[in-house]
Amino acid sequence: MEKEKLEKFEFESEVKQLLHILVYSLYKNKEIFLRELISNAVDALNKIKFEILMNKNIEDKDEDLRIDISVNKIQNKFMIEDTGVGMTKNELVNNLGTIAHSGTSNFLKKLSESKEEEKIDLIGKFGVGFYSSFMVAKEIHVYTKSFKKGSKSFLWKSKGDADYTIEETIKKIRGTRIELLLKNDEKEFLEKFTIKHTILKHSKFIPFPLYIEKEKIETSEAIWTQPKSSLKEKDYYEFYKFLENTQEEPETYIHLSSDAPVQFNAIFFIPKISFEFEGFLKAEPGVDLYSKKVLIQKGCKDIIPEYLRFVKGVIDSEDIPINISRETIQNNIKINRIKKHSLKKIFEHLKKIKEKNREKYLKIWKNFAKNLKEGVAYDFENKEKISDLLLFHSSKKSKKDFIDLKEYIDRMDKAQKEIFYVTGLDIESIEKNPALEAFKKKDIEVLYLNDPLDEIVIDHLREYKSKVFKMVESADIKLEKGKDVKNDENYLKDTENFILYLKTIYKERITDVKISKRLVDSPCILTHATDGPSVQMEKIMKMVNKDYKYSKKIFEINPDNELIKEMVRIHKATPDSPELKVISLQLLDNMMLREGVIDNIDTIVPRVQDIMLQACKNIK
Ligand code: ADP
Repeated sequence: MEKEKLEKFEFESEVKQLLHILVYSLYKNKEIFLRELISNAVDALNKIKFEILMNKNIEDKDEDLRIDISVNKIQNKFMIEDTGVGMTKNELVNNLGTIAHSGTSNFLKKLSESKEEEKIDLIGKFGVGFYSSFMVAKEIHVYTKSFKKGSKSFLWKSKGDADYTIEETIKKIRGTRIELLLKNDEKEFLEKFTIKHTILKHSKFIPFPLYIEKEKIETSEAIWTQPKSSLKEKDYYEFYKFLENTQEEPETYIHLSSDAPVQFNAIFFIPKISFEFEGFLKAEPGVDLYSKKVLIQKGCKDIIPEYLRFVKGVIDSEDIPINISRETIQNNIKINRIKKHSLKKIFEHLKKIKEKNREKYLKIWKNFAKNLKEGVAYDFENKEKISDLLLFHSSKKSKKDFIDLKEYIDRMDKAQKEIFYVTGLDIESIEKNPALEAFKKKDIEVLYLNDPLDEIVIDHLREYKSKVFKMVESADIKLEKGKDVKNDENYLKDTENFILYLKTIYKERITDVKISKRLVDSPCILTHATDGPSVQMEKIMKMVNKDYKYSKKIFEINPDNELIKEMVRIHKATPDSPELKVISLQLLDNMMLREGVIDNIDTIVPRVQDIMLQACKNIK
């Protein structure tokens, strides 16, 4: 057969950008390239281990599964070879010429703006590890032969600038050998001592034999099968760093071992930071599924649901068949048992932290509140357990502080049947909501929902410990009649007349005008007749659908308020006063403005200016 000719390829533009950042802005921690190469070799070996167990027809079936590192000091060459799955020519082009991730351009932007330490961590997490070798190498050669029967071998070469070449080569055994032609000032990676030290620092948990210049290195494997009593916090932390390609310790971890009804071991980690910054990428599911130490699926969504994608770790069960297909994982009874048990333990663990170490929990909450809220919406079965983990701002806490639902219930009056909440964009504007006046007066606590997700959460929960959630604007709350109304029948009658007048000028813009029993200071308020969506939610609906019509509200006035008193007085004396009409219209529009649902701004501005003119004329 004729040998395939050398072909030249250009790197995808994102790879070029990445290479530029790697080569020109990273000066410290270059050793991480080694961790990345080993991690790729381990992946390739895990994959072949699986293929072998599935009894596929593959190249070099009996070859040992191992990683070999060697150097050539004369040629300045560092070499790492594995007997993993290898790559076909197409795979070479796709894997080592592109970045196969969504959100790459955002990642690159973030990368170029971040500090050196963060850069290293980002690289590890995002998985562009191979390219990091260009930090130390002026040229890289990749010899590879796929495990697929009859595969040819190929040599991939690049100097890490704009392009690379691929040509056919001769490689005897299945797998990949990567040769780095080191830059002149990176010769330390030719020293066995440095290599060994670096590997033990970053990659202690290698589940395959590893040799450096033919010497076998002692590495530990599968810590999750070891008894908890033999493991120290440090062991878990090191394992986490290895698993996540990071330098950072986790916030917390959980180690589970169960023998019945299903045998399984699991270690879960909750990271210290969220990897999902604004508009950046959605983290990949982070818990790998093993069966008898063989990796079956990386990031198994069917056990740890998507909303818990921040949880990292491993699950290993002897009761799951190795050849379980991805389609059947979902319906496997044993998998479901593992899932149930794992989630229960994760939620319990978080709850315990919340109760015992609030400061730690607040850190977790800051990073992953979004995920837990998402869980309430998506995980019907567990929403109650998650509801115990939720935190809210409240009218009885300082702005930065939080309360959980249990605290709310424990504190409230026995007779209170509902959990009251108010929505808004931020605490400052929430606190100015007139609907809160009655609650303050009666000393009833109100939850402040300043995250749009909160309302979705409340919508899905509907109640907590049999107490229904109620928006303050639709709550049935009454204060004692104010002094002006209580003792003065005539004034009450005048106010009723004024209300009739308001109805005639507001017409269909509102459903009703009433005397308010919930206001203390403010002149008026818009309330909701039923438990419809909040104004915040309506605004979101309007954004999605331009034709969405805001629901109509009830307009309530406060007869004890000075402005209302004046208006009632004018109305009694001069029912058709043109000034009163202008002010009355503005009174409603002020409320609409406050809620941000105004659509007649063009009439409001000249009207306010008219009112100002009148006011000016009265100033001496
Ligand atoms: P990641 O490993 O996070 O996917 P990399 O840039 O390190 O990102 O590697 C890109 C891809 O190249 C890998 O996903 C894998 O498919 C392939 N690859 C890299 N190294 C090897 C190897 N030693 N054996 C087989 N495939 C490899």
